[in-house]
Amino acid sequence: MSYVKLPREPKTLENLVGGRWTPASGGSFLDVKSPYTGGVIGRVPLSGASDVDRAVAAAHEAQPAWALTPIKERTQRLFRFRQLLLDNLETLGNSEALEAGKTVAEGTASVLKGVEVVEYALSLQNLDLGGSMQVSRGISCTYQRQPLGVVAGITPFNFPAMVPMWMFPIAVTLGNAFILKPSEKVPLTSGLLGELMMEAGFPPGVFSVVHGGREAVEAILAHPKIRAVGFVGSTNIARLVYEKGTATGKRVLALGGAKNHLIVVPDADETLTVPAVVDSFTGCAGQRCMAASVLVAVGESDHLIDKIVERAGRIELGGQMGAIIDRAGVERIEGAVQIAEREGGKVRLDGRGRRPNGEDYAQGNWVGPTIVDQVSAKMDLRQREIFGPVLAIVRVPTLRDAMALQLDSPYGNAASVFTTSGSVAQYVADHAKAGMIGVNVGVPVPREPFSFGGIDESRFGQGDITGPGGVDFWTIQKKVTTKWAVQPDTTWMG
Ligand code: NAD
Repeated sequence: MSYVKLPREPKTLENLVGGRWTPASGGSFLDVKSPYTGGVIGRVPLSGASDVDRAVAAAHEAQPAWALTPIKERTQRLFRFRQLLLDNLETLGNSEALEAGKTVAEGTASVLKGVEVVEYALSLQNLDLGGSMQVSRGISCTYQRQPLGVVAGITPFNFPAMVPMWMFPIAVTLGNAFILKPSEKVPLTSGLLGELMMEAGFPPGVFSVVHGGREAVEAILAHPKIRAVGFVGSTNIARLVYEKGTATGKRVLALGGAKNHLIVVPDADETLTVPAVVDSFTGCAGQRCMAASVLVAVGESDHLIDKIVERAGRIELGGQMGAIIDRAGVERIEGAVQIAEREGGKVRLDGRGRRPNGEDYAQGNWVGPTIVDQVSAKMDLRQREIFGPVLAIVRVPTLRDAMALQLDSPYGNAASVFTTSGSVAQYVADHAKAGMIGVNVGVPVPREPFSFGGIDESRFGQGDITGPGGVDFWTIQKKVTTKWAVQPDTTWMG
């Protein structure tokens, strides 16, 4: 097991504008603190409208020539970028862990999930992205994909490398210039991505990084030259970004929060179910939009629940499970467990106040795996996204009741069923309200080219963020109808 490496001194970050690291104009900064230690590991500038404007101007200048560069040439830079990601995997994995609180293994794995999207983008050069047909005598229609121009991505704290890489490899390969506004809580990894994009040879302005928070987001949403915005984050902000962005005529796809229900029926295979449920709610300390949040136990499932409690109780903090992003996160999670107790929930495993062994991480933000049984449909812990390592168990007599509970959630990101019965699995897959369904899988995160996106309060806008959905989102489809006069046989061709 490898532990996160701490930096020698905090790094002061700059924006990447026109291929150069540039100080933000406003002069105000936020301390970036490692969830592991609470110590300052960086200082992030809070960019304003003039910084966004500068990045857009550089992107706007670079984009036409980039769009005219043949896709096979554009792709050569991405090949180099992929190799640089692999060459720097350890550094990137550690950076993700250090600033987002993941374990190093989780940080590394999530960089590799980003590499999968890069590989999908590399394949675009070999796909037929257009089409043509003779629609009438002497008349043909062709359609071709064109980039939108300058586009932007606004990303959350929990996957500092992977979520940006859901967007920019596809967007830039298709000829757009991309501006990344990473979460101000985890800006260090996007700085590394910016360096690697420049080293890979992308022309100045094709990929930019603008650090900051709300002000930078509002400037992006208001900017007339930004044509599309990809957003990933909490539901309230996703809704706001969607409403503001579309109001200024942009194309917006905004992925929001989640409350994922895992349905466990009595015939479930213990060896598949127990580790999958525990990994799902404790992985990344529960700070994943795909994390298990509610376990819906159908009928007599105590033999499985006892094992889940026992396994989760053995998890070591620091090495096997990472930290919570900040103090506010710890307070939110512990507060939610307190409310659940008041409302009648029975705490089977209590992670409140738990700390890893050793002095190094004593001042970090920690909550151990927590399981609350006897939760009811109406309780806060069943309904609200907690975003921490907390599993609420709701007991129901039948599969139909389990399904009614899942359908009652306003979110629709992921849902899973654990069973050895094909018909039960099919019933859940057919009826559950979620964009991603798992059968005996606790985190049904798709692999490229299967793309990613929820429904209802988990997604605002159309389409998926990666895969073919990403190709649609970052391009316009242009149709050309052509008619030529029929040439007589006596022309030069005769
Ligand atoms: P967040 O919504 O707080 O922040 C996301 C982005 O929005 C950041 O870049 C932040 O700077 C910006 N932002 C925050 N407040 C803003 C405001 N008032 N106005 C404008 N911009 C603002 O989300 P987070 O806490 O960083 O991330 C966790 C959330 O993201 C969870 O809800 C999780 O479920 C969700 N998430 C969803 C997916 C998905 O695919 N659906 C993936 C990862 C995370």
